[in-house]
Amino acid sequence: MLRAERALGIDAVVLSTTGMPVHRASSSESEEECVGTTSRNDPLVVSDSPSHSLRRSTLRPQPVVSVDVQKKSEIPKPSLFNTPVNDFKLPTEPFTSPVLSKDEKVLRLQTLDETQVRGCTKCRLHETRTNTVFGEGNPEARIMFIGEGPGETEDLQGRPFVGKAGQLLDRMIQAMGLNRSDVYICNIVKCRPPNNREPAPDEVATCTPYLLEQIEIVRPEVIITLGRPATQFILQSKLAMNRLRGQWHLWRGISIMPTYHPAYLLRNYTAQTRGAVWSDLKQVLQRLGLSVPKRSEE
Ligand code: SF4
Repeated sequence: MLRAERALGIDAVVLSTTGMPVHRASSSESEEECVGTTSRNDPLVVSDSPSHSLRRSTLRPQPVVSVDVQKKSEIPKPSLFNTPVNDFKLPTEPFTSPVLSKDEKVLRLQTLDETQVRGCTKCRLHETRTNTVFGEGNPEARIMFIGEGPGETEDLQGRPFVGKAGQLLDRMIQAMGLNRSDVYICNIVKCRPPNNREPAPDEVATCTPYLLEQIEIVRPEVIITLGRPATQFILQSKLAMNRLRGQWHLWRGISIMPTYHPAYLLRNYTAQTRGAVWSDLKQVLQRLGLSVPKRSEE
């Protein structure tokens, strides 16, 4: 178990604090859970982990390719928005559209964000948001992380997983020998639910065409669903997380690995949950043919 803790960099939290992470008593897997700080000098911090050559190309999290306005108008709207909410069904068939080039992916993602998500008022969550949180990362990422929805910090910054749980997600990614800019990170809803409650079913149904469009554009090989709402949505299952996580699932030709949400991990800071998450992440590395970082094997 120690190896798993080291790989997640979580023991750095323990060593740099005097006790367990402090957390709020909430059933929601929100991003504002508190945890101790990481010591820069702690040898178990994973920032010096070797980085896999995971990216299909190098790209910063924020799109850097300028968008031709004329081309934007040629980008079709997600067809799922033409479907009434009550008739919404999660597609299960494999993608048939061709895989886009890097530039096409950047253009499609940027256009989706700028022309549809940022001004979206399709559900009640727009009334209380500060910013929409579209998602970010490498448009050619082989791994996509999907969480539940933005928390307070994410709402203020307009970026996914930048609060305390996001810091732990960063360490999980580093423990895999990767950088945040290697992967793509997003949520099932793009606006923060008030008081970090779970998104309501109608909010999920209304917002997830954006997510489905992101997935179709990025076309990751593996999706790691973080926590129960994201997992149950992608798998269309009512089973509990302890029945779903740690096992491979297949959706639209993409391998799905459910694992615990970092906020849940912070609230249930046990060797068992830390070991479970690391076990799930190792399975992803092995599925993609990537070596498990040496540190985790020490
Ligand atoms: Fe639009 Fe999604 Fe925000 Fe609702 S949560 S207002 S559907 S972007």
